Amino acid sequence: MLKFIRSSHLDLLSTCPRKFQYTVLEELTGDGESSSTRFGTAWHLIHHLIRQGVPLHDAWTKATDGYIDPPKGAKTKEKLLKGIEHYVRRYGHTLEPISPAATEQEFTIRLPGISLPIQGHVDCIGWWDANEGRGREKWIVDHKTTSWLAGDWVQKYSTSNQFKCYYKVGKLEHADLAGVLVDIFHVTMGVSTPRGQAGKSPEQIDGCHFYRLPIRFTEFAIQEWEQFVASKLRDLDNYLSHDFFPMHAPTACGAYGSNCAFLNVCSSQDPDIRSTMKATYIEQPEGQDQE
Ligand code: SF4
Repeated sequence: MLKFIRSSHLDLLSTCPRKFQYTVLEELTGDGESSSTRFGTAWHLIHHLIRQGVPLHDAWTKATDGYIDPPKGAKTKEKLLKGIEHYVRRYGHTLEPISPAATEQEFTIRLPGISLPIQGHVDCIGWWDANEGRGREKWIVDHKTTSWLAGDWVQKYSTSNQFKCYYKVGKLEHADLAGVLVDIFHVTMGVSTPRGQAGKSPEQIDGCHFYRLPIRFTEFAIQEWEQFVASKLRDLDNYLSHDFFPMHAPTACGAYGSNCAFLNVCSSQDPDIRSTMKATYIEQPEGQDQE
């Protein structure tokens, strides 16, 4: 029986209950997802170490100790170094936490009318000026790494249940919280030919793209989010009591720009073959649940 739900799993539960079953309850992960998680975890750690005063190169060395490059794709150890170098060149420095303790914090929140406590992890609460004439404000910062950004990524991130959760939690302690700042590192392969490089910045040539999306939430949006969570947890009770987690196929199978790691499992119609396939997945290493 679940004792809590993690904030990052609310969107997963909504996207596909079967994927929630495989990744959260059975702790399975595909190879591609595992390398994305490693990359994101290292990126978070680099920022955390720099915020703690560790010099940039040392932070990268420490955060990538034992890092194994994926067999394909751009999420390599080298890209992490190029990424943080370009990031600091672009913004001048990493984001400044409001206090030494306001970095990499765990939280647990119990909300009225919601059956399970919600646990989560906040990367940083930092000062940032959104250039909206309000000066420096307090933001919950979420570092995101991705190799795929859809054309409507701003709207998609703005509807994230995870970010609404961060805002709700942060607002309880910081009445002056402005919102959630999504700090995005979009990773691509980069370009190597003179023709491809023409007219591009050094960041673009190296396949490092940065965006900052500030999201301010209204009271209405947060109340709606609380109703959403209560509703999803009622669904979860139902799945658990019937021991059946429906597939949201085919709509969810290609969500986030690539095929779900469990597509082969779900497309098999034989229970024994499914079990055999699932046995080839690796268990998610503890503490690697990057949020
Ligand atoms: S393949 Fe599709 S149905 Fe199966 S777990 Fe993934 S998203 Fe859900």
